[in-house]
Amino acid sequence: MNCEEAGRLLDAYLDRELEWSSRLELQEHLSLCPSCWSLAQERQEFRTLFRATTSTYKAPSELRKKILVAVRREKTKQAFALFRQPWVYAAGVFILCLSLVLNILFPDSGKEISRQAVLCHSRSISPEHLVDVNSANPLVVKSWLAARLDFSPPVVASPASAYALLGGRVDVIQNRTVATIVYKSDKDLITLFCWPPKREQLPQREYVINGYHVHVWSNAECNYILISKFRGPETDGFTDSFRDQLQSGAYF
Ligand SMILES: [Zn+2]
Repeated sequence: MNCEEAGRLLDAYLDRELEWSSRLELQEHLSLCPSCWSLAQERQEFRTLFRATTSTYKAPSELRKKILVAVRREKTKQAFALFRQPWVYAAGVFILCLSLVLNILFPDSGKEISRQAVLCHSRSISPEHLVDVNSANPLVVKSWLAARLDFSPPVVASPASAYALLGGRVDVIQNRTVATIVYKSDKDLITLFCWPPKREQLPQREYVINGYHVHVWSNAECNYILISKFRGPETDGFTDSFRDQLQSGAYF
């Protein structure tokens, strides 16, 4: 920015009307150019003096009310004018059709499989059939699972201090044999389902299904569905730390 441009933008700058990139450029120029800096100082001083010495008058409350009513009426008119345009309805119908077509062509596979996972999770609670291998030792759980599956699932020992590893079992969800790893805290139970992605890597999603909170994500090794009854700092901490430990290789 040169001095001529700076001079042109100075008033808008002092009125705080400049968009941020020009504002930054001008600030940089002012910090490097003593003559523009003193011009800016002069104008600022003039503004301060002008504000301090001119009289201001408050509008009578009747006038103020009338102006506010007129402004509101104008806004409502503009909104109604928009809804009188036929293209607004055409665009609405188009968007609705497009989303239906997209849903048919690309159904949310993550949501469907999450529904099945939630069913599986709630079946395991009532009647209680939480785990087939009951151990807090991640190596025991991992080797038990690996012996019954054609893959070796990553087992994180204890992602968050409030939760302890309870054990594991093998489930079938939508024809996929999956590793199920269960963690327990005083008031919650977290079930993690995982299986190799093969050709279907699930996108990262969050759902609430039948009152359960569901996190879906994947990496090169597995698709993961994590289900908990509660959602709060503790479960969020569990999920974040679980994913961090997977990423840093801190698992068995
Ligand atoms: Zn300058």
